[in-house]
Amino acid sequence: MKPLTKKNTLKKLLLIPILLFLFYSCSSEEETQTPVIQYTLTVTAGDGGSVDVLGGTYNENSNVTVTATADEGYAFSVWSDGSTNSALTITMSSNKRITATFKLIPNNYCDLEYDEGEYSIQTYFDSELPEKYKSDACTIISYLDAILPFNQYTLNDNDTNTPIYGLDIFTWSIDSGKPFSDYIGNDGGLCVCGTRGNNTLLLLEFSNQDLINEQNIDKYAIIAHEMFHAYQHFKSNGIHPFKNFWLIEGMAETFASIFQRGYYPNSNYFDNHMNVTDEAFANIETFEHYDTFDPTLPDISVYMILVLSKKLQNDGLTESESFSKIFNDYFASNPTETNWKSNFEEVFSISVQDFYAFLPTYQDNPSDVIPSESLTLENIFLD
Ligand SMILES: [Zn+2]
Repeated sequence: MKPLTKKNTLKKLLLIPILLFLFYSCSSEEETQTPVIQYTLTVTAGDGGSVDVLGGTYNENSNVTVTATADEGYAFSVWSDGSTNSALTITMSSNKRITATFKLIPNNYCDLEYDEGEYSIQTYFDSELPEKYKSDACTIISYLDAILPFNQYTLNDNDTNTPIYGLDIFTWSIDSGKPFSDYIGNDGGLCVCGTRGNNTLLLLEFSNQDLINEQNIDKYAIIAHEMFHAYQHFKSNGIHPFKNFWLIEGMAETFASIFQRGYYPNSNYFDNHMNVTDEAFANIETFEHYDTFDPTLPDISVYMILVLSKKLQNDGLTESESFSKIFNDYFASNPTETNWKSNFEEVFSISVQDFYAFLPTYQDNPSDVIPSESLTLENIFLD
């Protein structure tokens, strides 16, 4: 018997793959005759961006690469399957539907100076807003930023001592839905609505009708009104325990009225606040709290602040000094529900009861309490 040589063994081993190859070749030929399986792909883009492939029909197990591209002001966020890379390769193992979502890049629309360590205002403007409003609102916010001497402060909430570094202003049209929901949830309206991280949050949600109506300048006074609320927060390190309607709202509205008259000289903003009635005086204590304020009564809170200014002028202050004391000193005394009357007497040298008794002094000629034409916010805050 011929002994097995190494060469013979190799020959025999080589036969096996050749046979296997033939077997698989036959099998492969059979497969091409079966119907090709195909699947459908649907690709969509959420608000703020687009995708380069909208989908189609693809052979089973083929790979499709789709790329999401964000619009200006947005960034790619995530695919609906959880992938976070904007270029996504999809293997077509079944019918697939996938959506790219985008997020708004935090913007600093008005381009206000941001100084690390200084109280800074960040502006978030929805891109859908009318250009005229965007430009006017930025001018006004930047003007008020220069007028109001904000500084960093620590929130007066015993638990966290949150430092407040600035103000986040969000503005959009109610007709655009909730474009900032990623940042502020479903909050809306016109308010200084607490804090967002280390910033006070100010929301300016207007109707499209008010935004496009260029005759409507009240929307600009509202910006001043709300920014003054932010200033009250700063002055009293957060005014949460204090809910006095006439002091909080009367001051903000007086500030807004001085602003509006200076900025839009033909407006008669003060006159709208001079409906001074006996009924209001008879119910004066209902003005002390948001819960008891009766919106069916004429709101005399601006008249009250203006009479307070007259009283301080009678005591010897100049007009601008009287408003400076009202706008700066009272909230700096950290008024609360329990100390607000004693703080009032300390700051203004008159008891609340005596002040209420003094209120009817100008009832017959309420326009006498309207500040002189020469009074400006610059006089009050910068002189
Ligand atoms: Zn208000």
